Amino acid sequence: MSEQIIILGSGPAGLTAAIYASRAGLSPIVLSGNLPGGLLTQTSTVENFPGFPEFIEGFDLMERMKAQAKKLGAKLLFKNATAVELSQDGGPHVVRFASGEPLSSRALIIATGSRPRELGGPGEAELRNRGVSYCATCDGPLYRGKDVVVVGGGDTALEEALYLAGLAKSVTLVHRRDAFRASQAMVDRVLSSSIHISWNSTVHEIHDPAAGRVTSVTLRNTQDGSLTDLPCDAVFLAVGHLPDTALFAGQLNLEPDGSIHLANPPSTATSVPGVFAAGDCADPVYRQAINAAAAGCRAAMDASRWLQSLPLSPTKKEESTMATQIQHLDLENFEDFLKKGTVLVDFWAPWCGPCRMQGQILAELAEEENFHGNIGKVNVDEARDIAVKYNIMSIPTLIVFKNGEPDKVLVGLQDSEVVKDALK
Ligand SMILES: Cc1cc2nc3c(=O)[nH]c(=O)nc-3n(C[C@H](O)[C@H](O)[C@H](O)COP(=O)(O)OP(=O)(O)OC[C@H]3O[C@@H](n4cnc5c(N)ncnc54)[C@H](O)[C@@H]3O)c2cc1C
Repeated sequence: MSEQIIILGSGPAGLTAAIYASRAGLSPIVLSGNLPGGLLTQTSTVENFPGFPEFIEGFDLMERMKAQAKKLGAKLLFKNATAVELSQDGGPHVVRFASGEPLSSRALIIATGSRPRELGGPGEAELRNRGVSYCATCDGPLYRGKDVVVVGGGDTALEEALYLAGLAKSVTLVHRRDAFRASQAMVDRVLSSSIHISWNSTVHEIHDPAAGRVTSVTLRNTQDGSLTDLPCDAVFLAVGHLPDTALFAGQLNLEPDGSIHLANPPSTATSVPGVFAAGDCADPVYRQAINAAAAGCRAAMDASRWLQSLPLSPTKKEESTMATQIQHLDLENFEDFLKKGTVLVDFWAPWCGPCRMQGQILAELAEEENFHGNIGKVNVDEARDIAVKYNIMSIPTLIVFKNGEPDKVLVGLQDSEVVKDALK
């Protein structure tokens, strides 16, 4: 069975997309990947996510997002996609796993994030979040008035150094070459600032894991190999990010840095119809949780609109199901249909996108083995009198009739669980 929407990734982008897609009645499936909750689960206190004046642990923030998405009906699967087959013509996209059945969906949201590149030298892993940081915007304010080191020579490194120069007592920029790769404007700003530059240097070792915090770095001169110790309180590594997009290479347009190319920003649409991208995997600039969440929101809205724009003719599956289980109702047969006992009537119109989605949900429900309800459909354009009689002001509207009388009225797109409940 094809899902309406699958979301790859359970970081702020993926879970926000799940929250919005659930509320739009799209019953999203979220694949958590190998890092459930995403990058924020690996950091400690998050001070800059709005709405938490007392601050919040990254792990707790993601647990809350997950709980909210689940409460609204998103289904979370602890699975990592190992391959995708993206349909270029609007057909279902297929997601495969190392084991188990593949999944497919009409719309796909990619929110696989990116990982900061590591140096991999001694002390780095042990002192992560204890003075070793990959994000100056996130952790810089913790080192106000302290001595910090920034490693890198591109635009990001220089930007982070300038940002930290406004907070820290001293900033030393460590670069392995004798010239920066960054834009000239950025280079000029750094050269005219208080930032000290250690040219032709690499970080040989970060101290001191035994103390549980950063106390100094040993720098290695790339020309003569000499080692020098530089006391400091934090090391900000800005040597690049690796977008988690290898899965899509050759199927989606990617930027030279590996991030996903968005066809028409701020839309999250990619180069493939029905495939949307949100968060750090498509954003090499504003990598922050709030931006990822905002992009997740946009992706869910874009995907929902795209699903609504699909041709309105019923699929083969809908046609066959309708022929056997779902009855088209008009003035001739409506009253007889109500005599069947408890029945559900779907008021719809061919021009209404959400009605088409509601039709698919009902068609799939009717196919379920243990479903025995009676479902009828009233096209409000053709059977206006019925719509007027039951005061239909908005479509889709579902009415459960008991003994010929309306018992429950559900306005707007409803998922199958709500429909089943209403028919109980
Ligand atoms: C050390 C550190 C500290 C930070 N601190 C802050 C902070 O204080 N405030 C802030 O706003 N931002 C902070 N950030 C940045 C923030 O973490 C990211 O911007 C944010 O997490 C990006 O969200 P995302 O949803 O795009 O991706 P991620 O959070 O990276 O989530 C990616 C998700 O995709 C999943 N995934 C990957 N591949 C697959 C696959 N093949 N199949 C299925 N799922 C897959 C992963 O398992 C993961 O769940 C920090 C970053 C770092 C590195």
